[in-house]
Amino acid sequence: MRSRQRMYSAVMRFFLKCLRIGQRRRFWLTRHVQQLWLYGRLCMRSLVYNSFADGDTALDALFEPIYWLVDHVTRWFGVVFVALVITLTSSVVVIVYVCLLPLVLQTYPLLWVFWHFIYGHWNLVMIVFHYYMAITTQPGCPPQQSKSDVVAVSICRKCISPKPARTHHCSICNRCILKMDHHCPWLNNCVGHFNHRYFFSFMLFMTMGCIYSSVSGWDLFWEAYAAIEKMKLLDKERLHVAANQTYSQTPPPTFSFRQRAFHKSIVYAWVLCSSVALALGALMIWHSVLITRGETSIERHINRKEKRRLRLKGKVFRNPYNYGPLGNWKVFLGVETQRHWITRFLLPSTHPPYGTGLNWDTPPCVAEQKAPLLAI
Ligand SMILES: [Zn+2]
Ligand SMILES: [Zn+2]
Repeated sequence: MRSRQRMYSAVMRFFLKCLRIGQRRRFWLTRHVQQLWLYGRLCMRSLVYNSFADGDTALDALFEPIYWLVDHVTRWFGVVFVALVITLTSSVVVIVYVCLLPLVLQTYPLLWVFWHFIYGHWNLVMIVFHYYMAITTQPGCPPQQSKSDVVAVSICRKCISPKPARTHHCSICNRCILKMDHHCPWLNNCVGHFNHRYFFSFMLFMTMGCIYSSVSGWDLFWEAYAAIEKMKLLDKERLHVAANQTYSQTPPPTFSFRQRAFHKSIVYAWVLCSSVALALGALMIWHSVLITRGETSIERHINRKEKRRLRLKGKVFRNPYNYGPLGNWKVFLGVETQRHWITRFLLPSTHPPYGTGLNWDTPPCVAEQKAPLLAI
């Protein structure tokens, strides 16, 4: 009996010992897993930690494949868009020379012929010159060799190089652009410091040309439109008569091919010019507002955000590149004297813009303008 009791107590002691060991082992395992988890989390955080990481960065990362697709499509479609601009502009010019010019020479008084000849050709030269210069002139990039000379305000995350003031990275061109405005698919080029003036002048002269064509071709357009309507009516009547009568041949058309082509060309040119005048005119006015404020399209968004942020703090935002409305236009067009307005703005000119695009100090033409005010 006693031996049995001793055996039971021995078994119980062994069982309790096993339980204690198992408990200790289970705690050890839990602690080990916990330590591994903490270590892994620390490793992960130290690898991916970014003080700039926020909701916007996460959203950017999610949309990265879409941006990539849009960038590549825009890059390849740029060539198509440039071809489209050249084709459409050339078609209108051909219509003017083939259809309108003989008419103007025959019917208009000499003074009007002279005006149309001078103005039309000046406008055409300005459009062609500025478009050619806008697509062939490089917008400007920060120097790659002497990076120490660049007064940088930040570092480009894509190029890993210093970024001067007003410089932004273009994901389509895959490089940093000085005083970047935007990437224009119609130019297949970025609009930056060195070709911004050509881009704006192209818009301005193209709008002027389209308005001039639409206004001077107003009467002709309505005549051509009425003729086309008449043409359709006569064609319908002709087919109706042909269906009811037994002709050996269908009757000849009332309008010749030449007449049809003439009227349709006039309507096409007028509709195209009016549409371009409206769309491009609106864009040109918007860019005029930006230039008057001393901002680029990108800076417009940045400055608006900054203005809102400072307003909440009770501060007033001041654009550091705003030299006053007239000063901004002088800097933009690169005009310093009164003569320059004619030679550099109203005539084709390849003069470089003010400054290198790397530093933005107060230019001399603006400093002179402000001097009397400072003296007072
Ligand atoms: Zn860059
Ligand atoms: Zn670009």
